[in-house]
Amino acid sequence: MPKRKKKEAEEIGFVTTLSVPSEGSAGLTGSWRVFIPVLDGERCNKCLLCWIYCPEACINKDIRINYDYCKGCGICAEECPRGAISMVKEEKKQ
Ligand code: SF4
Ligand code: SF4
Repeated sequence: MPKRKKKEAEEIGFVTTLSVPSEGSAGLTGSWRVFIPVLDGERCNKCLLCWIYCPEACINKDIRINYDYCKGCGICAEECPRGAISMVKEEKKQ
């Protein structure tokens, strides 16, 4: 586990395995996305559930989403207890 992620896990008190997103043979997985998660910072209470649940490990502890790797699965929005994440149809750049 990278040192930064290990430190984050220790600070929070979780004993878990964390991964970090990385480029695969198909390139950046963010290009697969149809819907994009959009955070409403006013609603967010920094509970970190989205950080825990994101299967791509592309939300960091400061609740910043790494759009290079976010696949738009919507799990973060589903799990957020505050309704702070909305899934919005993404306009693809040509
Ligand atoms: S789950 Fe929702 S409220 Fe909790 S940190 Fe993520 S966006 Fe914020
Ligand atoms: S939409 Fe899916 S991949 Fe993207 S940040 Fe949310 S949980 Fe992670």
